[in-house]
Amino acid sequence: MSRTVRDQILSRLAGIRDPERGRDVVASGRISGLTVDEAGIARIMVETTPDRAAATEPLRREIEQAAAGVAGVTRVAAVLTAERTPGRGPGQAPRRAAGHSHGHSHAPAGSATGPAAGQRPSAPVVPGVTAIIAVASGKGGVGKSTLAVNLALALQARGLKTGILDADVYGPSIPRMLGLQGRPDSPDGKRITPKIGWGLKAMSIGLMVEEDTPLIWRGPMVQGALDQFLRETDWAPLDVLVLDMPPGTGDVQLSIAQRVPLAGAVIVSTPQDIALLDARKGLAMFRKVEVPILGLVENMSWFTCPHCGGRSDIFGHGGARDEALKLGLPFLGAVPLDLDVRIMSDEGRPVVAVAPESEAAAPYHTIAAGVVESLGRVRREPPRIIIED
Ligand code: ADP
Repeated sequence: MSRTVRDQILSRLAGIRDPERGRDVVASGRISGLTVDEAGIARIMVETTPDRAAATEPLRREIEQAAAGVAGVTRVAAVLTAERTPGRGPGQAPRRAAGHSHGHSHAPAGSATGPAAGQRPSAPVVPGVTAIIAVASGKGGVGKSTLAVNLALALQARGLKTGILDADVYGPSIPRMLGLQGRPDSPDGKRITPKIGWGLKAMSIGLMVEEDTPLIWRGPMVQGALDQFLRETDWAPLDVLVLDMPPGTGDVQLSIAQRVPLAGAVIVSTPQDIALLDARKGLAMFRKVEVPILGLVENMSWFTCPHCGGRSDIFGHGGARDEALKLGLPFLGAVPLDLDVRIMSDEGRPVVAVAPESEAAAPYHTIAAGVVESLGRVRREPPRIIIED
């Protein structure tokens, strides 16, 4: 069924002239992606270039409206996508999205490229949020999202009003970990009401697209979506907003670190990644953009056998603590590889919420205490003065 609806959309779009390219929008290659899911939600990617993003907006709207008129389509999200301008190297962040709230769709917009690395460009302001902290990792699968959720819950347990923003567009797992489903409400069609999961205000790209919808995320799209989530979600009042970063240290991550007014970053790593220096790249990335490192966390640090209670340091526990010492950074704590942590977080029942007094939750409380301490310290430190040649 979806296929026919998709075909009908395509033939409808073939009737729209592309003013820049002189052909119809399908023939001109303007449509770089089109999916229709079981619920009749159509997602369309409209190609543009960073400098033409604003100019392409009317065409995007026209495409959205045309698709909305096709029988079987319940909702349309047409988004602008843009590659980085040729010739601009990595480390250059997108500027504010050339765009636009897409009415009901809340889809990300394309954006233009901006200032060079090292500068902190006009970041989107998030009123009513005292501190945004990033949870980052050198690579995927090290337990970054699990830490982000349990850290947010442990901060909440300390009496802080806490929220979590899932910026891990490549694998948005926060909805699953908090047991959240369905799109967030938008009573006026502009502001987004965050979902509440175990008391946390939560927002995720995973709530906007189906979990199995393949979407190609280019840097500017990520930035556009994130800007929208930061600016248009009713976060206030919050003491802390935990930002679950996409794994890795590439351009997308760097531009988030540049654009979002971060109070600091927590780097999570497994013992073997510290050895492989993946986490060090994360440190270097935040340093480059002058975001203070609140500390390192070692995840899956050791394994306690659920049968015999014996402890095995499978990956050579302690690497992150040594590394932190060497780098003069706070070591926030070590979390063991714990079967309950895995089962509970994958079931939407995070251990700190469900069993706050348990042994498995204890490391997260320690880490949260360290984060609060580090935050206080970085706030007291005077801003560094940088003299450029
Ligand atoms: P990332 O965000 O780094 O990709 P996740 O937080 O999604 O990683 O974790 C990857 C998998 O590892 C998940 O199934 C999660 O439940 C599991 N996991 C994370 N931390 C632990 C831990 N301390 N003990 C056991 N399993 C864990």
